Amino acid sequence: MSVTTHGKAFAAPKTDASGRIPLIGLTLPQMREALAVHDVPAFRAKQVWHWIYQRGARNFDAMANISKDVRAVLVANYSIDRPEVVTEQRSEDGTIKWLLKMSDGQMVETVFIPEDSRGTLCISSQVGCTLTCKFCHTGTQPLVRNLGIHEILQQIMHARDVLQEWPSSALKKDNGEEGRDLTNIVLMGMGEPLYNYENVSAAMKICMDGEGLSIGKRRITLSTSGVVPLMQRCGEELGVNLAISLHATHDEQRSAIMPINNKYPLAELMEACRTYPGLSNMRRITFEYVMLKGVNDSDDDARRLVTLLQDIPHKVNLIPFNSWPESGFECSSNTRIDKFSKILIAAGATATVRKPRGRDILAACGQLKSESQRARKTAEGGQ
Ligand code: SAH
Ligand code: SF4
Repeated sequence: MSVTTHGKAFAAPKTDASGRIPLIGLTLPQMREALAVHDVPAFRAKQVWHWIYQRGARNFDAMANISKDVRAVLVANYSIDRPEVVTEQRSEDGTIKWLLKMSDGQMVETVFIPEDSRGTLCISSQVGCTLTCKFCHTGTQPLVRNLGIHEILQQIMHARDVLQEWPSSALKKDNGEEGRDLTNIVLMGMGEPLYNYENVSAAMKICMDGEGLSIGKRRITLSTSGVVPLMQRCGEELGVNLAISLHATHDEQRSAIMPINNKYPLAELMEACRTYPGLSNMRRITFEYVMLKGVNDSDDDARRLVTLLQDIPHKVNLIPFNSWPESGFECSSNTRIDKFSKILIAAGATATVRKPRGRDILAACGQLKSESQRARKTAEGGQ
């Protein structure tokens, strides 16, 4: 049985398994309104908000300055739970991958990638993905639903829990180090963020809010396969950095590996990039280009790529293909990747080769795929 309708993903559940409403994900005015129904005054809502996003409270009992009566109302009706950690894998290079189970049992993956000067959390926007890019493992997952606002934020809050990065603990961690390791967010996990735009944008607004999670828009990158109609809005409303999964240099080639290209072909995509709000040499679009042996890695491809990008402030990120069982693709050789990048650079393009991270725990781009559909198949009678 197909569980997607017309390429649209199912919505996230509005309550948790016990019928409680997640407070995570409400704006401050929404939180005031929700609590006012229980006669909780507006200033208390602000305190609760502060406990959730600035202190990282994981249960209502931790909210010391909130009266017992109000806490009882909160406990009875609302939740600030984190997702359940099904597995945590740590790579020898420091990368951490979590498989997180949401309240309805659906699972997504979240990956933390530490580097010398920053730490990036790669978060998911959907369970699975309705797009079926041929080289991407996530695209083979049949069950797709959107993540709710709270579920997008919970991934970041969970990482802050594990990394001990709430302000009270960030001053000094168990290991004696000061400051925060988690500095950047990339929406490059499972799912197409612009196919869940309402929830992604609401979550990112709380993420960027100085009184929310306080991670600035310059430190957030949204990666899209090219959902052209929403790109302008994303730039205007959120102003985050944009990454485009380009992966090909002409329509026939791109449509063969990325079906979304049939809907929004290259000319439209490049025009939407050219007009992305706030673009300058200081704020470039990242073009992701997965290196697939014999598919998109010729000298001619490199030259066509230069032409495509010549009037767009850009940086090209060449991604060595991360293989997964039965993908049918191979990664280009190091020599080929090297030659390809040299052609780009010689022609004045900006290009870097992405260093694979967390390979030993299958945490790299395009390898994320939860096991959740198995459980579902079993429940449906082993289809
Ligand atoms: N759906 C969004 C964001 C998630 S994918 C998008 O497509 O942009 C993050 C990046 O990993 C994308 O550029 C995607 O094309 C790339 N990717 C997917 N599968 C890959 C694989 N097997 N090896 C390397 N990169 C891959
Ligand atoms: Fe979806 Fe992105 Fe994977 Fe394509 S590359 S299937 S859009 S997650």
